[in-house]
Amino acid sequence: MSMPVIPVPAGLDTELFSLGNGALNYLPEVLAKSFPGSPAFLVADGNTWRVAGEKAEKLLLAAGAVIAGKYIFPGTPRLHPDYEYCEMLAEKLPAGCVPVAIGSGVINDLTKCAASLKNLRYCCVPTACSVDGFTAAGAALVVNGTKKTVKCPAPKALCADVDILATAPPEMFASGFADLLTKVPAGADWVIADAVGEEPIRRDVWELIQGNIRKWISDKDDMLAVFDGLAATGYSMQMYQESRPASGAEHLFSHVWEMEGLTRDGEDVSHGFKVGVGLLASTLLMEYILEHSFEELQPLMKPGLNEAGRSAEIDELLKKGCYGSAPKITAMGKHLSGEALAKRRELIGRIWPEMQKGIRERLMPYHEAKALLKSAGCPTEPAEIGLSTEQFLHGIKTAQLIRHRYTILDLLYELGLLDIAMTEKLAVMYR
Ligand SMILES: [Zn+2]
Repeated sequence: MSMPVIPVPAGLDTELFSLGNGALNYLPEVLAKSFPGSPAFLVADGNTWRVAGEKAEKLLLAAGAVIAGKYIFPGTPRLHPDYEYCEMLAEKLPAGCVPVAIGSGVINDLTKCAASLKNLRYCCVPTACSVDGFTAAGAALVVNGTKKTVKCPAPKALCADVDILATAPPEMFASGFADLLTKVPAGADWVIADAVGEEPIRRDVWELIQGNIRKWISDKDDMLAVFDGLAATGYSMQMYQESRPASGAEHLFSHVWEMEGLTRDGEDVSHGFKVGVGLLASTLLMEYILEHSFEELQPLMKPGLNEAGRSAEIDELLKKGCYGSAPKITAMGKHLSGEALAKRRELIGRIWPEMQKGIRERLMPYHEAKALLKSAGCPTEPAEIGLSTEQFLHGIKTAQLIRHRYTILDLLYELGLLDIAMTEKLAVMYR
């Protein structure tokens, strides 16, 4: 039998992807091919070590590979993606080694960043279909209290054993499905950013995701299709060098809730479950745009705030103090007032019907998306992921502050309609 390999688009950081039943058996070959002569350094947590790490170590030793060391994080409580762990891990990586991340989520992000701190390329051995980050450039980490994407190269090689992916707990697969479904409203967010001239759509990147998303999500039980979609999402981020193709307002909500330390029954909530609830909120806000003409909304638009007014409004939203210093700077940096705001509103009015059309083509209606998430075993209401109504709504408004990325939140805020749209649309999620 030869190594099962799936094609990777050309020109990316990722060069080799072995995917299939029993693919772990080919890990020694993957490493020899992509990192000739480099000793392996294995990184796992207690759980991923049990399901794949032990076997990986045995296989490597049996194949005569050199293992330079290993680091196993505790399996419980759930590991946090703190930047300090990357620095700690980087210290342990010997020069010239190849770090091997055994895990798909936090372990992968920590290893990815640690490797890049030491100028090393790494190999990822995913253990669950739970997130799209395993093929992405950049790691989602908490740096000085702010959740952000730290730039670092994607894995040079991956080795994903379908037999191992299939043994992951079902809620991890559900979480991955929800993360994949976010690409639907994230696409609509890009349509909005393109329409207002903030961020033009790049066609090749767009096609890779938006051209295939309906196929990937068409069967919620098809693990290979979902995994394929999540992998492609990572590639799209490598191509674009940014997470825009894979992430819109729904991801921003989840970043805010994460910075607030969201837990349910004392446990962290998975990434997919947060963005799953988030995507429903963002879908509803987009439906507000679809349901009204610009002229109809004009009388409802609040006048914009001046610099001082906006500054005070932001301070009020950030008063919990758990978001680091970056959001205030980001939010003030993109604030429009006076003439600039008037121009923006005038532009939005002109492109309104065209933008509505673009959003409508992308968006899956709220009821459909909710039913799909439910059928896949994902939560659909804020309370199910430990959010009070107040924290849910506060997160929606605060999410607009934390990134430069233009989304439905910026569109509604700039029009002075964010509050009214939230009141009119979001109550169905918590009534
Ligand atoms: Zn995601």
